[in-house]
Amino acid sequence: MTETTTSSGGRPSLPMQGVPQPSRDEVLNLPRVHFSSHPVMAHKMTALRDKNTQPPEFYRLVKEIGALLAYEATATLALETVPIETPMGAMKGERLAGGIGVTPILRAGLGLAEGFREVIPDAQIWHLGLRRDEETLQAIAYYNQLPHRVDLQVCYAVDPMLATGGSAIDAINVLKRRDIPRLCYVGIIAAPYGLLKLSQTHPDVEIYIAALDESLNDVGYILPGLGDAGDRQFGTY
Ligand code: URA
Repeated sequence: MTETTTSSGGRPSLPMQGVPQPSRDEVLNLPRVHFSSHPVMAHKMTALRDKNTQPPEFYRLVKEIGALLAYEATATLALETVPIETPMGAMKGERLAGGIGVTPILRAGLGLAEGFREVIPDAQIWHLGLRRDEETLQAIAYYNQLPHRVDLQVCYAVDPMLATGGSAIDAINVLKRRDIPRLCYVGIIAAPYGLLKLSQTHPDVEIYIAALDESLNDVGYILPGLGDAGDRQFGTY
């Protein structure tokens, strides 16, 4: 199990100890929250969670799950009509109306963003570095490379683990300052606590999740979860 210590190297800090958490049932029917029910997703999730899955395969699975989530989360995108010529003649085609942005929350969101790029190769990737203060669990921005010119119809903030919700809420706060018509959050596993927090703080944001887990442990990790999504993608145990 992951254990954190205070910055001074003292006793482990336990920021979720004694904090009341909602149950799964309490968050199953939140508005604008979508859980994947695809059997292929369930199959890949089992391999992802397995502690014996090594980083190269883990990263590949995060990418594949990212592509499946991208497929689900883009199902309601706006289209516009364009005249085209097929080899057989003229017709009216359709294309996505406006750009697509993907904001991986560094570093764990990188694999998910790669999955999105498999589905939408011309998506703009806006990197955003937020890390958790291990004592307070507050999100701190350490890297922000969002472009000045915004011409998107939607931006997807992607981060595998929706745990306390701190990073997700902060990422959406940053994106809301950029005048983007529609914002979505996409994650692999959510804890009821973080999901409720994100949904209540940003009720206008659509949330796409592959699996809803039971709870957070005392240090803010998801149970049963999959451990540290960043370490498992990049082999930094
Ligand atoms: N971040 C992770 O990588 N895993 C968790 O369980 C919670 C936050």
